[in-house]
Parts: sequence; structure tokens; C-alpha cells
Amino acid sequence: MHPAERRPVTGDRSVELTKDMSPFDAVNYFFTRAAAISGVSASNQTVLRTPQRELRVEVPVRRDTGELEVYLGYRVQHDNARGPFKGGVRFHPSAEIGEMRALASLMTWKTALVDVPFGGAKGGIEVDVSGFSSNELEHLTRTYVRRISTIIGPTTDIPAPDMYTDAQVMAWFLDEYEQINGYAPAVVTGKPIPLGGSPGRNEATGRGAIVVLAEAIRDLHLAPDQTTVAIQGFGNVGSWAARLAVLEGFQVVAVSNREGCLYNGDGLDVEAVAAHRARCGTLENFDGAEIIPRDDVLALPVDVLIPAAIGGVIHAGNYEEVEAQIILEGANHPVTPWADARLAERGVLVIPDILANAGGVTVSYFEWVQNMQHFRWTEAQVNEQLRSRLVDAYQAVAKVAEVRSCTLREAAFVIAVERVAEASALRGML
Ligand code: NAD
Repeated sequence: MHPAERRPVTGDRSVELTKDMSPFDAVNYFFTRAAAISGVSASNQTVLRTPQRELRVEVPVRRDTGELEVYLGYRVQHDNARGPFKGGVRFHPSAEIGEMRALASLMTWKTALVDVPFGGAKGGIEVDVSGFSSNELEHLTRTYVRRISTIIGPTTDIPAPDMYTDAQVMAWFLDEYEQINGYAPAVVTGKPIPLGGSPGRNEATGRGAIVVLAEAIRDLHLAPDQTTVAIQGFGNVGSWAARLAVLEGFQVVAVSNREGCLYNGDGLDVEAVAAHRARCGTLENFDGAEIIPRDDVLALPVDVLIPAAIGGVIHAGNYEEVEAQIILEGANHPVTPWADARLAERGVLVIPDILANAGGVTVSYFEWVQNMQHFRWTEAQVNEQLRSRLVDAYQAVAKVAEVRSCTLREAAFVIAVERVAEASALRGML
């Protein structure tokens, strides 16, 4: 745990900008600045800075070898002034309590920014599931659900996929919850469509990111076909962002994952890359691109860089190497506050995570609405509603940034914090 995470949650939590901030302090640094601008009272700031509830559970799993392994799992519920807690579940070694707090808090600001009636939460298990069989993954998921089931529910806290969890994991999640509580499809989003999932949810985060990018590019009077893009991460967010960027006319010249980075300065055939990855399970040995070291993706001479893998990848030690003039944050908190400030001084446009990757939670909201109404929308309806919400959110952020002469991140946090603080104050949670 980062030393800053051991401090008590109440009392003075003013956050200094340093090179080495914990993820939770990083989010609270942006929150605190926005709260000060918005005139949020000190007591309300304390409420909004700290999670409302944190649950830590042991998650034992019997491996196929017969051995019992025990992992730590969490569900952090940050704020529910605007509606039920909402946020993904991550199975990854990075899912420690400080990261969970940071991601839960980001969810509160993200749901407020796109104006869906949810609060913020996050959960996960500190585990590397890369060597797990499907059987082991199912048992891990089911045990986790049993242990957090008392604090989740369709009107209390609605989980969703995140890193190393997908629609199949959500299917096991739903089934285990329903074994305990009966029919409740709205308890989780990102489900397979036959179990009440929504058309368009799988690609929603990548789609939302490209909708926002297209708006920003238009504001800058640039043309997509003159704009080169490099993407870090080729999972759910990165691979869909890549495919939809190409459909929107952008030139995607690089994609990377844990193993390495594929680069072709003339443009990648992204569909062929996706088919190769699906067939071979790797990006390696793909004809039509050179493979370069994994982290070189961050320093390529491109117009747009989309970090869509993990947090904190652009930091004090490498921000100077970034050549892109636009960074679209597909991942959560991929740019540290220190790097963010330096990049802003250099005139780099950073489109913040709570806007850039909000497409996922937006379509999760549409899925939840469909489940609550027992009625299915068409994919065209979902995509159109997604586009409309994200265009509105982008334009609201761009307007505040212009009026206040601030960054898009500061503007996004100001809008989100004002909405949550207002709901919180109306409820009298002060
Ligand atoms: P995923 O598990 O589907 O994919 C993660 C990808 O990142 C994989 O391609 C993996 O190989 C790659 N990766 C991991 N470490 C890497 C590294 N060091 N360098 C390069 N690549 C690396 O996860 P995802 O759902 O696509 O999530 C990615 C990010 O987007 C996370 O930060 C997540 O919190 C955020 N996010 C996801 C969603 C969603 O709907 N899935 C919504 C909002 C935000």
C-alpha cells in the first residue's frame, strides 16, 4: 500500500502536487481543486473525498491441481448521492485497496459528468488470472460474489466488467447472485445479450472514446484522415477504439499490449490485427507491421496517443518523451497529475478519462434501464443515445474550459463535482 493510503480518511486531506502521488491522492488532487473552484463546503468536501464504505473479503479458490489459494478482494463504494453505486470489477494484481478507492471515486465523477443517475464504486481481486483455467476463473468469480452479495443489488450497487473480467465473468456473477437472491438481471451490466445484456455494450467504451475524439478533432479544425493514432492496450477498450477510429477515418499506426507494440507508419489493418490476435492469442508474428518494444508506443511521432491499458503510464519520468499533441485517456488515470500539469504547459490537449472512457458506464446505464423495464433496445438506439450523451458531455466540458481558461480535465471535474455536491447538499449529507 502506498504510504499516503495509511493516513486516516477524515481530517485534513489537502493534497500536494508531487511526482509520486498514490492513485487515490491523484484523483483527490483533481477533486479538491474543482471543489475549491465550485465553492463546495469543507464538510461536504470531506464526505466526497472519502469512500462511504469499503469491504475487504478473502477469496479462496481451489486450483485444478487441488491446491487452495487465497486472494484478497474488495468492493469500495465511494458515493451514492445521485443514485446506486456503479463501477467495474477488476481481476488484476493492481486491484489493491488504494487503486480501488481511486477508481471508485473516478466513477462518482464520471457518472455525474455524463449525467446518468448513478454514484461511484469499484471492486476487484488482487490476482493474476493469466494462468487460470475457465473452471478456476468461474470459482473465483462465484466466491467473490457470495462474499460481497450483501452490499450489491439492482438498486444499491451494480458491478460491470473491467480489466480481465468480461461478459462471461458477468454471466457467472449474475448467476451466483440470483442463486442467493432470485431473478435480478439488473444487478450487473456488461452481461451476454441472452442473459439481458445490451446490444452495443461490448464496444461502448471504445465507441465513446472515438465519439469524443472526433468532436475534439473537429474543434481543432483537423481532419481524421490527416490524423495518426497510437493505442496502448488491445483489450476491450483499445481494440474497439482502434477499429472504430479506422471507421471514423483516422490512421491507426500502432497498437500494443503486454507483449509488444505493432507499428506501421502507413497505417495498420486493424481488423486483420484483431483477427490475428483472436486466432493466435498474441500480437506477435503479425505480417504487415514491425514489432517494437512495448513501451515505445508512448513515444511514437503521432498526433493522438490513446493509453487504454493501465493507470499511471505517463508520469514524471517519461512525459517528456510523449510526442503526441492529443492524449485521449481510454484507461483510468493513465496520466499522473505531475505529468498532466507539465503536458498542459506544453500545450498538449489531454482529454480526461472521466469523459473519454465514459461510454462504457453510459451504455451500462442503458442496459440497466432495459433490465428494469424488461424491454430491449436496438443496437442503433443504443449507439445513437450514446453518441448524443457523449457529444453533450464533451460540449459542456469544452465550454467550461473556454469560459474558465482551464484544461478539459479541470472543466470536467468542475461540472461533475458541482452535480454531486448539489445532490449531496440537497440530501443534507453534510
Ligand atoms: P482488458 O483486460 O480488456 O485489456 C487490457 C489490455 O491492456 C490488454 O490488451 C493487455 O495486454 C494490455 N496491457 C496490460 N498491461 C499493459 C502494459 N503495461 N502495456 C501495454 N499494454 C498492457 O481491459 P479493458 O477493459 O480494455 O480496460 C483497459 C483500461 O480501460 C483500464 O484502465 C480500465 O479501467 C479502463 N476502462 C475500461 C472500461 C470497460 O468498459 N472495459 C470502461 C472504462 C474504463
